[in-house]
Amino acid sequence: MTVRYALLPGLLLLAVSVAPCARADWMQRTEAIMGTRCYVELWADDPDKGNAAIDAVMAELRRIDDLMSHYKPESQLSQINRYGNERAVQVDKELYDLIKLSTHYSEITDGAFDITYASVGYLYNYPEHIHPTEEQIKAALPAVNWRNLIFDEEHHSVRFGHPGMRIDLGGIGKGYAVDRGIDILKARGVQRALVTAGGDSRIIGDRMGRPWLVAIRHPDNPSKVVTRIPLSDSAVSTSGDYERYFDEAGVRYHHIIDPRTGHSASKVRSATVIGPTATQTDGMSKTAFVLGAEKALEIINRMPEYDAVFVLPDGKMLYSNGLRPAAPRPPGAAAEPTAANPRVPP
Ligand code: ADP
Ligand code: MG
Repeated sequence: MTVRYALLPGLLLLAVSVAPCARADWMQRTEAIMGTRCYVELWADDPDKGNAAIDAVMAELRRIDDLMSHYKPESQLSQINRYGNERAVQVDKELYDLIKLSTHYSEITDGAFDITYASVGYLYNYPEHIHPTEEQIKAALPAVNWRNLIFDEEHHSVRFGHPGMRIDLGGIGKGYAVDRGIDILKARGVQRALVTAGGDSRIIGDRMGRPWLVAIRHPDNPSKVVTRIPLSDSAVSTSGDYERYFDEAGVRYHHIIDPRTGHSASKVRSATVIGPTATQTDGMSKTAFVLGAEKALEIINRMPEYDAVFVLPDGKMLYSNGLRPAAPRPPGAAAEPTAANPRVPP
C-alpha cells in the first residue's frame, strides 16, 4: 500500500504561514525496521519536539522487533520456537498478550489467520525461490493449528501441544507496533500524524480539515492506483500477493499461507481492511486470501467498525457495505449531502 496526501490548497498554506507559531510544520522520516519500510509523519508545533516524538516512535518499533522477530535468535518469540515443544516458555506479558490475541483473530476468521502457519511457512524462502515439496508440506501441516497453543495465564507462558510447531507474528506484529507508536504520539499531545510499518498504517486526526487519501495500488503495477480511500482517525492494512513472492511454472509463491493447505493463499490479489486500530486491521487483512472475498466480506460486514476493499484475481474489486457507492437516486430526487459522509464511494 502507498499512502498519498491530500494536497493542501495554496490558501491553506498561506493561513499556516501567518499562524502564531511560524515554525509549525509537517515533519516526516522513513527508517528500515522490522524488515520493512517504517514511516512517521506528524504535524509539529516545534521541530525539536517533533523530532523527539519521531525518535520515540522509531525506538518503540525497534523495541517491539527485538521482542517479537523470528529473524532474531535472541528474541522471546525465537525462545518459544526453540523450546516450546519441550516446556512452557515464559515471556513478557506484552508478547504473551499478543500471541493470545492472535488466537482471537484465528477464531473470528475461521482459522484463516493462524500464527502457527509458520510450522509450514518456514519451509518457504522467497528471496531464494525455495518452496516445500508436497511431501514436506504433508509432513509439516499437522503442526499448523492455533488450538494446539497451550497458554498459562498466571505465568504468561506458552507451550506447543504438537511436535514441530512454530509461530510467527509477521501477520500482526507490524499493526501492533504501529498502534504502540500512535500511543506514544498521543501521549506527547500530537494531534495529526501517520505511522506506517510495511502494509499497516494508522492515522491520528486529519490533514488540516481534509482526510488523508490512502491509495491502493494495482497488484501488477506499483505506480498505478486502483482506488483511493479518504481516512482520518483510523487504521488501514493492505496485504498483497506482490509483496514477497516468486513465480515458478505459472504459480505464484507468496508470503500469505493458507493454514489448511500449506500453500500460498490466492483467492484475492490484495485485501485492504479499515478499522479502529492497526492491530485489528492487520489481524483481518489476510482473511480474504484464504477464505475468498465473499466469505471475508460476510465477516467484515458483520463487524460495524470494519470496512474492506478486495482486488480479485480477475482485477474486479469488491467493497464492504460501508464503502459501497450509494444506490442511484431516482430522477428529480435531491442529492445526498456528501460532506456528512466521510466515506466517499470509489
Ligand atoms: P506486512 O508484513 O507487509 O504487514 P501482511 O500484513 O500481509 O504484510 O502479513 C503477511 C505476513 O503474515 C507474512 O509475511 C507472514 O509473516 C504472516 N502470515 C502468512 N500467512 C499467515 C496466516 N495464514 N496467518 C497469520 N499470519 C500469516
Ligand atoms: Mg501487515
